[in-house]
Amino acid sequence: MSEVRVRFAPSPTGHLHIGTARTALLNWLYARKMDGSFIVRVEDTDLSRSTAEFEESILEDLAWMGLNWDEGPDIGGGFGPYRQSERFDIYRKKTDELLETGQAYRCYCAPEELEERRKARLAAGLMPKYEGTCRELTAEQEAAHLAGGKKAALRFRVPDGTITIRDLVRGAIDFSSEVIGDFIILRSDGSPSYHLAVVVDDGEMKVSHVIRGEDHITNTAKHVPLFRALGYPVPEFAHNAMILGPDGGKLSKRHGATSVDEYRQRGYLPEAINNYLALLSWAPEDTKEVFLLHELAAAFKIDRISKSPAIFDIAKLNWLNGQHIRAAGMERITNLCIPYLRDAGLIDEDELSEDDFAHLVQIIEAVRGNLTVLAEIPAYAKIFLSEFEIEPEAREWLAEPGLPEVLGELREALVARGELDFDAGKEVVLGLREHFKALGITGKGLFMPVRVGLTGSAKGPELPYILNILSKEEALARIDAVVEEAKKARQ
Ligand code: GLU
Repeated sequence: MSEVRVRFAPSPTGHLHIGTARTALLNWLYARKMDGSFIVRVEDTDLSRSTAEFEESILEDLAWMGLNWDEGPDIGGGFGPYRQSERFDIYRKKTDELLETGQAYRCYCAPEELEERRKARLAAGLMPKYEGTCRELTAEQEAAHLAGGKKAALRFRVPDGTITIRDLVRGAIDFSSEVIGDFIILRSDGSPSYHLAVVVDDGEMKVSHVIRGEDHITNTAKHVPLFRALGYPVPEFAHNAMILGPDGGKLSKRHGATSVDEYRQRGYLPEAINNYLALLSWAPEDTKEVFLLHELAAAFKIDRISKSPAIFDIAKLNWLNGQHIRAAGMERITNLCIPYLRDAGLIDEDELSEDDFAHLVQIIEAVRGNLTVLAEIPAYAKIFLSEFEIEPEAREWLAEPGLPEVLGELREALVARGELDFDAGKEVVLGLREHFKALGITGKGLFMPVRVGLTGSAKGPELPYILNILSKEEALARIDAVVEEAKKARQ
């Protein structure tokens, strides 16, 4: 079998959208699964809307997702250049060929005329398509247009008959050339249309499989005859279904964050984004749900890409993110949490010493089980990093009947111990449980006073983690402060 070559072809007119990122991921997974090449090609023919900043931002997000490319605008490759704006002479050569062989023709229709005819067709209940006004111009008619100073666009002469798309996801899809109409391949200003550029590039870059969103299906019906006319082999196609918002509409801003960049800033891990986007696109063969990128590549099958639209479910993404946060290396997670802690003023701007970093690792290890996104870290870490205080939601526990006894006993148990660590913490907790069972103080009645006594908060990590992090001195001071407050609350 010949080499699998797939491409991701973003237009740099905005940040990487989560739906576009999914298309990139599917292409990447297929390339890696098949030991093929993943190409990035920047489709910047719309010079007025494309910017270098957006290109950079898209490449940065792709790299962040771990979707490394084998050829692209920044690294080159054997089929470059990889920016369409740098390939205009190639397109020009190809349109000259089509014109010579009669597979393209000059069209002199003015935009206003076309618009009028489009409206008239719509009003008559017809599909809007080019009616072929300039399809069969005589030499005299052409000469007259040129004499009038008119600039021509070039149209592709779509061959009559049925156009069949062979789609690896959906099977064969037929289109009649009747509904397509001759389309523009070169605008009157000499710039290529999307259809021309994409086909020439896929042909020249020897793309074997085009994996893209189903919103491109009608484009594919235009592209298939153009590939043939240009003498390129027609690639295989796979059109993936769209991602919809919970209300069934196309996923957009009104549903929340739509760019990969926003998810990154909120503290989603790339492995969670990839895992989630992959699960949106195809069902794994067993019940496993948490996958790393290389596992996704190994499990990927192009013909399992889903035909039906997927509803974006933030709760599922959050769950996966939590799973990946718990599975990731502690040092990496700690480094990723530092900016959020700095922004919240919980650690200062200076370089952290090795000891401070090690302390932070302990804290984050303790609380990461509570996180769905890294941006939540300040809310959980502050019990270890800021002045002790009793949070408003925790105050109701001050009135808990067993609190003075529980904290009295905890204090004694701590005083009786040397420095605390995780195992000592576990033993202290077990000892308390044993002691208070006989007195009927169990469950929340026991653990909430301990939690509030040590952290001032009603939620947070398991107790042995807390005792592992607090110094004994700090733990005792907190207990005393809470007992004092509880007294006041009871007066
Ligand atoms: N540049 C196109 C887009 O952003 C991609 C088209 C294609 O994959 O062929 O939608």
